[in-house]
Amino acid sequence: MMQRIGNFIDGEIVGARNGAFLDNVEPASGAVYSQVPASNEQDVEQAVDAARRAFPGWSRTPAEERSRVLMKIADLVEDNLQQFAHAETIDSGKPITRAREIEIPRAVQNFRFFATAILHDASECYATDYAALNYTLRRPCGVAGLISPWNLPLYLLTWKIAPAIATGNTAVAKPSELTPMTAHLLASVCREAGLPPGVLNIVHGTGLAAGAPLTAHAAVPIISFTGGTVTGRSIAQTTAPLFKKVSLEMGGKNPTIVFADADPRALAATVAAAFSNQGQICLCGSRIFVERAIFHEFVEQFVERTKRLRLGDPLDAETEQGALVSAAQREKTEQYVQLARDEGGKVLCGGARPTSLPERCQAGFYYAPTAVIGLDAHCRVNQEEIFGPVACLIPFDDVDEVVAGANSTPYGLSASVWTRDVNKAHSVAERLESGTVWVNCWLLRDLRTPFGGMKQSGLGREGGAEALRFFTEPKTVCIKTE
Ligand code: NAD
Repeated sequence: MMQRIGNFIDGEIVGARNGAFLDNVEPASGAVYSQVPASNEQDVEQAVDAARRAFPGWSRTPAEERSRVLMKIADLVEDNLQQFAHAETIDSGKPITRAREIEIPRAVQNFRFFATAILHDASECYATDYAALNYTLRRPCGVAGLISPWNLPLYLLTWKIAPAIATGNTAVAKPSELTPMTAHLLASVCREAGLPPGVLNIVHGTGLAAGAPLTAHAAVPIISFTGGTVTGRSIAQTTAPLFKKVSLEMGGKNPTIVFADADPRALAATVAAAFSNQGQICLCGSRIFVERAIFHEFVEQFVERTKRLRLGDPLDAETEQGALVSAAQREKTEQYVQLARDEGGKVLCGGARPTSLPERCQAGFYYAPTAVIGLDAHCRVNQEEIFGPVACLIPFDDVDEVVAGANSTPYGLSASVWTRDVNKAHSVAERLESGTVWVNCWLLRDLRTPFGGMKQSGLGREGGAEALRFFTEPKTVCIKTE
């Protein structure tokens, strides 16, 4: 019988109250392999209620004890790393090496990072000459609503859960309905680790039926969301009149900028930035600006390297490119490649579904990594987020031109700059409208740094001290001393 995933409410694994399920598809085979509760506002209500009841106890639990439980959760995820990685790959189509070596270990780190951060946190005190002392209390906000996407399922869900519950909030999480499996495994781990019932609740289901009632719920004062900009806008519209605290991590259209003096390692890194996770990382560099002096040579090598990426069964450790997450995501990619052609672009490689795939993957949602030239920075393909394996290479002549091109989209999530000239690196980094600028690297993350986007890529920052601040409410106490 097909596996059925449950919600995690008040420490119990339960079905949706209406008894309905959604099919869960394996992207690599295109086959339904499990079912996920089609929860609605009734389930959200039940989960919020459990979280409210758990809040007084958990928020007053000493930091050391909260830390101990989070460390235990981290240990148990780590102990079961193979199971988590296998589940993530089946659920999302991503290569198993990526799940095993990067994403599940990062989920473990998220818990450890915030479990230890709360032991070293301090708050400010200001002496007003001799007249008064002002100190700041930082208290958890209450029930946090945590909504995450499908592209890095456990990695991004735990990036929210860990700081939310470490700081003493209780939480209702809504993972993507396309990739629910590792959240389901996490529920069992939380029980085993001794997390008190109701501290973390997980409600599965679609964005409209389960996510929207969570964002609108009067007893949920704080929402952390990662996903698309259109969804983020709708959440902003719901939450603004309710004056909720909101963090929105949204889409991107990130530039990679390669100057003529770049280290040769820029080539491999640029290919990785374009196509890792089949181009489905919000930080992927899909607009590649290359200084004209090296443009033709760089393009040739980029294409040659892209053609060598091994497509295959994501469960195979040799596979570098797995399947896209859904048929819809592949169709969107195909439409943008057609648009690229219509806008006058030349497709140098990819541009089609691959023909030779293992038997098991014949009906999977595959698309060959695609490189396009001949389009300027202002055409739609270079302005809109595709979120698939499509990269455009664009030549540039000087710094002003490339900065203007890089900043020309409504997004501002991240950028990657490749040069050996340190002055140029600083100056370009300073001028780019991006939440993160990597210089001579990509996706190198220190969990202490603020993370988020500018413009339509985000509102607010998470990570390190920013996350501890976001998930707590500051209160100033002023004591007259004279
Ligand atoms: P999405 O916006 O469709 O869905 C994200 C989550 O929101 C899902 O759990 C979904 O069910 C839920 N949701 C959908 N509609 C909702 C609503 N009206 N109210 C409440 N919840 C709702 O995004 P996706 O397709 O799952 O993910 C891809 C997008 O996420 C891309 O745009 C990508 O750039 C972005 N992303 C951003 C970051 C970042 O850190 N900035 C990281 C990863 C992905």
